Amino acid sequence: MENIQKSFDVIIVGAGTGGSTAARFTAEHGLEICLIDRKERNNIGDKICGDAVGTEIFEFLNINPPKGEELSCHIKGAKLYSPNLQKCIIMTDPKQAGFIVNRLQFGQRLLKEALDAGVKQFLDKTMALDLLYNNGSVNGVKVKLGSGETIDLNAKMVIDASGFNSPIIKNIRSDLIEKEIHKMDMILCYREIVEFNPNDLSVKDPEYITIVLDQEKAPGGYMWYFPKNERSVNIGLGGFVDLKGRIKDLYQQNVFEEHIKTQNFKIISSGGGVVPVRRPLWSCADNGIMFVGDSAYQVNPLHGGGIDPSMRAGYHAANTAKSAIEKGDYSLNTLWDYNSKIMTSVGAEFAALDLLRTILQRLSNEDLNFGLSRDLLTGNEILEIASTGTFKLSFWDMVGKAIKGITKPGLLLDLNYLRIQMNNLSKHYQEFPEKREGFESWKEKTIEIYQKIEIIRRSSST
Ligand SMILES: Cc1cc2nc3c(=O)[nH]c(=O)nc-3n(C[C@H](O)[C@H](O)[C@H](O)COP(=O)(O)OP(=O)(O)OC[C@H]3O[C@@H](n4cnc5c(N)ncnc54)[C@H](O)[C@@H]3O)c2cc1C
Repeated sequence: MENIQKSFDVIIVGAGTGGSTAARFTAEHGLEICLIDRKERNNIGDKICGDAVGTEIFEFLNINPPKGEELSCHIKGAKLYSPNLQKCIIMTDPKQAGFIVNRLQFGQRLLKEALDAGVKQFLDKTMALDLLYNNGSVNGVKVKLGSGETIDLNAKMVIDASGFNSPIIKNIRSDLIEKEIHKMDMILCYREIVEFNPNDLSVKDPEYITIVLDQEKAPGGYMWYFPKNERSVNIGLGGFVDLKGRIKDLYQQNVFEEHIKTQNFKIISSGGGVVPVRRPLWSCADNGIMFVGDSAYQVNPLHGGGIDPSMRAGYHAANTAKSAIEKGDYSLNTLWDYNSKIMTSVGAEFAALDLLRTILQRLSNEDLNFGLSRDLLTGNEILEIASTGTFKLSFWDMVGKAIKGITKPGLLLDLNYLRIQMNNLSKHYQEFPEKREGFESWKEKTIEIYQKIEIIRRSSST
C-alpha cells in the first residue's frame, strides 16, 4: 500500500485495445499516467471477440502490425453470403484486408508497449468503482485494489476505456452524456474457437472471413466463420439482445452444426459478449473526463468492429490530454477538441451506418436475397459504405439499380431515401460544432435526421 502513488496527470481505466493505446501515447507525450485494469496482468487482452482487425490502424498509428504469436493469420478479404447462400459477394480491397489476431497475445503486446513507453503506475486486479469530483469536474477514481482495499486515486483527467459495461458511465454526473443504451442498439453474440485435428484439414476458405446474413437464423445480426490458422476457426453468431437465452442454441444449430463437419475437434474457447451498434455517445467528453472505445459506443454499427476505432480514439484522447496539460485546463472546453476529432471522423461514419443498420435489421430474408442477387450493391460499394458511412452512388446510379429492382420498387425507394439521409447525417457530423456552445442546435438537427429514418424503419417493420 505504501508504494502506491496516488496523484497523476491522467488515470486510464481499462487496459484493453483503447486504454493501452491511450496509455502508450499519453506516456510518450511525457504525461504521468496511472493505468488500471480489473484483470490480472497475464489475462489482459483476452476477450470474446471475432479477432479480426484491418491493416489501416497500424499505418495510422505508425505501430507494428501483429506478428509472431499475436498473428493467427492474414486475411485477403471478406465473403458476404445471402440467406439462401446463392449469392456470395467477395470484397477484396487491400485497405480492408487484415489480420486475425490471437487476442490475448495482441493485448499483451499493446500493454507491454504502453508500459515500455513510460506508464508511471500500472495496477492490475484493480477495479474502478466510481468517479471523484472537485467543483463539478472529474478529478479521480475510487478503486478497489487486488488486496480488497478501497482507495482514491487523483488526476487532472480520467480516460475511461473500461468497455461496454463501463461502471463509470453509469455514475457520471453529466447532462451531456447518456447513461443508458437502448436494447435495440446492441447485439448479443456467442462465439467459439474450434481447433481441428492436425490430420483433418477442415478450415474452409482460409484467406477470407465469411459472413452470412439470415434474419431467421441470426435475427438482427449475422453468422460468421473466421479462419484463425490452418487448424482452427473463430465462429459465431450475433443477434438482437431479446434473443438472450436462445443465442447459444441458435449458434449451435445454425453455425456449429452447419460448419463443423468433423468429429475431430477441440473447443479452445467459448463465450458470449455484447457489442454496441449505434452512433457514439452524444459527447465523448465532459469536464475532466474522456471516453474511449466501447464505453463511448465507438464501434462500427454494421459489422461490430471496435478494435480499430478504440485504438484510434485512444490516440486522439492522448493528444487532447497533452494539450490540456500544456494549457493547464482540463475542462470540457479544452477536451471538446477530442469530441470534434471523434465526431468528424468515426462519429460521422458510425452515425450514418447506424441508420443503415436499423433498416437492414428489418429487411426480410426475401429482401436480402433479392438485393444481393440483383447486385443492388456491389462488393466495392458495400466496402465503401462500410468503411466511410457514405454512399458515393449518384442518383443516376440508383436509377440504374432501380431498373434492376423494378419488382421491388418500395425497397429501392427506401434505399434511395436512406442513402440521402445517411449522406446528410455524415455531412452534419462533419460539421460538428468546434465549441460546446453550438452543441444543442447540432444535437436537435441530428435527432431530426434520425426521426426521418424512423419513418421508413417503422414502415419496414410492419
Ligand atoms: C463476440 C464479439 C466479437 C467481436 N468481434 C470483433 C472483431 O472481429 N473485430 C473487431 O474489431 N471488434 C470486434 N468486437 C468488438 C471489440 O472486441 C471491441 O470493440 C473492442 O475490444 C473495444 O475495446 P475497448 O478497449 O474499448 O474495450 P475492452 O477491450 O472491452 O477493454 C476494456 C478493459 O477494461 C477493463 N475493465 C472493465 N471494467 C473495469 C473496471 N471497473 N475497472 C478496471 N478495469 C475495468 C477490462 O478488464 C478490459 O481489459 C467484437 C466484440 C464481441 C463481443
